[in-house]
Amino acid sequence: MRTGRHHTSGQRRQNERRGNGWIWRLAMKPSISVLGMGRMGSALARALLEAGYRTTVWNRTAQKTAPLAALGASVAPSVREAIDAAEIIVVNVSDYGATSALLRGSDVAPGLAGKVIVELTSGTPDGARETSRWAKAQGAGYIDGAILATPDFIGTEAGTILLSGAPELYTGNAEVFRALGGNVQHLGAEPGLANALDSAVLALMWGALFGGLHAIAVAEAEKIDLGELGRQWTATAPVIEGLVGDLIRRSNAGRFASDAETLSSVSPHYGAFQHLKALMQARSIDRTVIDGYDVIFRRAIAAGHLHDDFAALSQFMRAA
Ligand code: NAP
Repeated sequence: MRTGRHHTSGQRRQNERRGNGWIWRLAMKPSISVLGMGRMGSALARALLEAGYRTTVWNRTAQKTAPLAALGASVAPSVREAIDAAEIIVVNVSDYGATSALLRGSDVAPGLAGKVIVELTSGTPDGARETSRWAKAQGAGYIDGAILATPDFIGTEAGTILLSGAPELYTGNAEVFRALGGNVQHLGAEPGLANALDSAVLALMWGALFGGLHAIAVAEAEKIDLGELGRQWTATAPVIEGLVGDLIRRSNAGRFASDAETLSSVSPHYGAFQHLKALMQARSIDRTVIDGYDVIFRRAIAAGHLHDDFAALSQFMRAA
């Protein structure tokens, strides 16, 4: 829960009448420490400073804190001092192992009681669940988050951050989260939710990026200008977006059989896929990834889904 100085509404009205309402508002903003001044942690700290939060920063490699100090951040010489300086502790390091190394030492952990930890390091759902249990055992509040944005989106309207954990910690600190991005969403109380959805979205991203790598390899092998490939991506991206959206909706509804709304069944996809496979084979392009596509196609076809909607393939990738 957010802690800090509390003023009665009578005191607040009195202050505002005296014309120093802004002082009251500043005093009510929680103080925040950010641990980790990598690319992302620095962007988070910058956004908090820009939103007027008293911000303390710490980084293992001390010189990376200098640009934030120049923007008005206090620099803590140790993790413990960073924790002691703030009510909210934002963590953004490389992984949960690094978070554990920072927070779980006998000199640091006792300082966490009564604080709110906001873990924005990328990780697994189980990592978030375990860290949440550990934080609660220290008497700290815990919100886990996954950042679906690059550092340049942090603090902007389009910045997307998924959060999960105690709802009252989210609502009590909504303004702080809002400072980090215009599209901050609290998914629910279960702390693993944000990392779980993050992994699902990352699967979409890598599908597109590895598809891009295949496309570049094919275009180069066939002496197609990559600028032309870029133009075709722009032209076909809405079609692909429509297909993925349809796949998700159909899988959600279990509508795997072909029907009047089917955009394409497995059969034409598999036919066109053979052309790509043959071309890649002929040009000796690496087929590690597309051989995996082939396995999924063949599983579905062997089970009788050749003329079903492409969404039928989702049944062959589910957890056993
Ligand atoms: P980065 O620039 O490589 O920074 C990594 C940070 O972790 C540095 O501050 C580093 O400290 C610190 N660190 C690593 N191991 C540590 C340890 N054992 N003890 C203490 N500090 C340690 O990476 P980044 O891009 O900021 O990413 C940070 C987190 O944000 C990652 O979990 C990443 O997945 C997530 N994220 C990043 C992006 C992005 O676009 N960059 C997008 C979404 C999510 P030193 O400076 O001392 O090495």
